[in-house]
Amino acid sequence: MANSKVALVRRVKTDKGWRYYPAAYAANGKVQPGLVIADDKEVKYTVGHYALRYYQGTRLIFEALKGATPAGAEAKRMLKESRLSALIVAREAGIAIKTSDPLKRKTLAAQLSQFLTDTADRGSLKAFEAYRLACGEFLKVIGRQYADEIEPEDIVKFQKALAERGMSARTVSNRHTNVKTFLKFLEYDTKKLPKPPKYDKTMPEIYSDKELNSLFKAVTCPRENLLYRLLLQTGVREQEAMFLEWEDIDRETKVLRLRSKVKRWGFRLKDFEERELPLSDDLIARLMTYKRKHAGVSTLIFSRDGKPDSHMLRTLKRQVRRAELDCGKCDGCQGKYRECERWFLHKFRATFCTKMHRNPEIDLRTLQSLMGHSDLASTMRYLRPAEKVQTQALVNRMKWS
Ligand SMILES: [Zn+2]
Repeated sequence: MANSKVALVRRVKTDKGWRYYPAAYAANGKVQPGLVIADDKEVKYTVGHYALRYYQGTRLIFEALKGATPAGAEAKRMLKESRLSALIVAREAGIAIKTSDPLKRKTLAAQLSQFLTDTADRGSLKAFEAYRLACGEFLKVIGRQYADEIEPEDIVKFQKALAERGMSARTVSNRHTNVKTFLKFLEYDTKKLPKPPKYDKTMPEIYSDKELNSLFKAVTCPRENLLYRLLLQTGVREQEAMFLEWEDIDRETKVLRLRSKVKRWGFRLKDFEERELPLSDDLIARLMTYKRKHAGVSTLIFSRDGKPDSHMLRTLKRQVRRAELDCGKCDGCQGKYRECERWFLHKFRATFCTKMHRNPEIDLRTLQSLMGHSDLASTMRYLRPAEKVQTQALVNRMKWS
């Protein structure tokens, strides 16, 4: 892929005259006002302005952004980067971009480039990524030059191609919707198009035992290994896990107490969310081993430099990728950051609730209180049909006559 990178730089007045330096970013991704990176150090220059640096072919371009605020400059940078990659996508789809051909018909590649640019201009970078993936592949699969050549069968061909690559019905359906938006932009009559594959949108996603086993085997970092076990075995929310402290564990009664921590951390649980969760002997033992061997001085169980860890999700995605447990097929895996959509923290909570439902010894009211749900309907949402193996065993155990 050609280079679509756009860097944010700052032209500053130094002792040796005017110089360009890369803008300095804070850990949260925000541009730090006035700061630049010079000789690997952050330096502050009060006089200067931001600029974009990128390549046009082999030519290096500096585009001044006079009077732009740090946030405004960063927004301009992202926009420019999206526009450049829109052009490149269209070019890679096979056809050189011309604004019009002799017949005054725009090629699909040129139209896609325009569509992507419009999306980027609206500032929807997430939508931009999704359209780029779906429509780029659509054009490659159907191999048409012009919008009026597209047939309804092309949609079937596209869906088949995705399914053959092992994509889930959910992903195929999402991509279908994105392509449809593009077709509407082309003023194509989308009413006669075939429907996307059906999937159950209401069922929460859960991890399979196989996935969990591979995860616990692969994640050797004691902290994250413990965190994922705790999320799975207690069903606590990400926010709740962030503020868990060692004193919340009662070793005598083997429970984990979820309480508000307004004074210390500004963290508040709603009344019905306050609860005591039973801890398995195994989990208590793991927690204590971790505390003895790895925990620092923080009162928080999963602290990050003494503060609540707000990067838990990002860490999970990174570890999944490193362990090659990512699916490699979803939009997330194929996107810029290669973060698999099939792995997320809330899924541990959904898995906890589903597993508990399947235990015949648990009643709904108890499960509702463990989940911290204000109503039973929320708890019922996690009831799902049993897997084939389970129903098979069930019919075998039945006394039929
Ligand atoms: Zn994935």
